[in-house]
Amino acid sequence: MGVKQGCPLSPLLFGIYIDDLEGEMMAAHAAEQEAAAQGEEATGALDLPLLQGKPVPGMSYADDLGQVSTSADGLRRQAALLFDYAKRWGLTINAKKTKVVVFGRSRSKAQESTVQLYFGEEEVEVVPEFTYLGILFKAGGNFSGAMDLRVSAAKRAGFGMQRRLKELRLESADIQFRMFDALVVPVLSYGMEIWAPSMLCKSAMTSPCERVQLAHLRRVMGLRKSTASRILLAEAGRLPLACSWIRRMTRFYNRLAAANADSLLGRAFATSLELARGDTQQPATSWAGEFAEALKRFGVEVNLEQPSSLCRHEVSVQCKQHYLEETRAVPGRKTAYYIRVVRGGLPDDEYKTPEYLIKAERRAQTRALCQLRTGSHWLREETGRWLKPVLEREKRLCPHCEKGERPVEVVEDLEHMLFICPRQAEIRERFPQLFTEAAERRDVCAFFQQSPMALAAFATACYKQHESWREEIRIGVG
Ligand SMILES: [Zn+2]
Repeated sequence: MGVKQGCPLSPLLFGIYIDDLEGEMMAAHAAEQEAAAQGEEATGALDLPLLQGKPVPGMSYADDLGQVSTSADGLRRQAALLFDYAKRWGLTINAKKTKVVVFGRSRSKAQESTVQLYFGEEEVEVVPEFTYLGILFKAGGNFSGAMDLRVSAAKRAGFGMQRRLKELRLESADIQFRMFDALVVPVLSYGMEIWAPSMLCKSAMTSPCERVQLAHLRRVMGLRKSTASRILLAEAGRLPLACSWIRRMTRFYNRLAAANADSLLGRAFATSLELARGDTQQPATSWAGEFAEALKRFGVEVNLEQPSSLCRHEVSVQCKQHYLEETRAVPGRKTAYYIRVVRGGLPDDEYKTPEYLIKAERRAQTRALCQLRTGSHWLREETGRWLKPVLEREKRLCPHCEKGERPVEVVEDLEHMLFICPRQAEIRERFPQLFTEAAERRDVCAFFQQSPMALAAFATACYKQHESWREEIRIGVG
């Protein structure tokens, strides 16, 4: 008899059937301790790992069973106990689905070759990694594999989402962002409380996880690969995944801090804190240490000496502010121009998805405006960068003003195109509502705060005209 894949009965049946296995393991461990204390010859230790001096009975959640031992002999005896238990209750263990992983600071094939475990006649395979409750555990103990697994699953989910949205002809950036949050982010974030601290304390902004979000934003907004991550996020009004993950990690941390000191969770947390504080001899990375380091990178201090519950709201606010401050201080010319001139300094309360991305239903309507705002556009100022050798900024001249009756050498940048270049005059006349006071002051930020749909139409008209000029030039040269 069996149950269907994913059937909710399966964990329940599993729970009922193996309910007292843990008790038997612990009883065997206690008996062996007692025998050892009385100086009797050891009957064969299970070698359960200890946390805060107390044994860890193994893991049995949902429908996965994991046995842990600090020695190969101990594991063998635990397996024998399980085999005997299963026989008594008429259960069968699938030896083919059972695997052994030898954990250490790095994977050791020599050590792996010393482990031989049998279930009945069948030898159990020794593998370098295994997945428990959807999280990949590697023999070397790092979580990079767990993250890679989530990234590839999220990419698949992303492709599926795109296909469906295309079929439904839903192109609006707003819908695309929300669908991403609903369908891709959960796949990406599964189990992140466990594996993300080690990733976030190293490289939050360039991690493969963040790259999944950045690629999505780039595609939705029609921007080039070279567009800076912080510009992409700011234009979409979104924060790096790290910010929401830190909030979720904090919730997990609070649960750990509140756990009963005697519970498995409480003991695991206490041990992690000891490792983080360097109380023990083993120089190991620990969850608590990496958690604190990850939060520190986003401007939040965690006291590991006296761990106590953190206010999630406060952590989230601090994290956002720290990120925005860092963004405002980015040295690069292009990002600085975007922050200062286009976004007027990027005030906190204006960090949100802009109206034109919410209102427009077709991607073609917003692409040009998005490109102009982010500097990922078709003007010489930008295209001059791609030439080899790169054209100096002063030499990226407006091709229209350079020629004509009264040639002027002027860099073709955003302000020139919007407010000055005479070749644009005709288009400007078509959008009189946009060319009022802000345009006269040549205030880019205020200009972009006008009617979102008029701006989108204006930008698209400019782009189309540029394309037709290019076509003329091509024909002319050809
Ligand atoms: Zn010009």
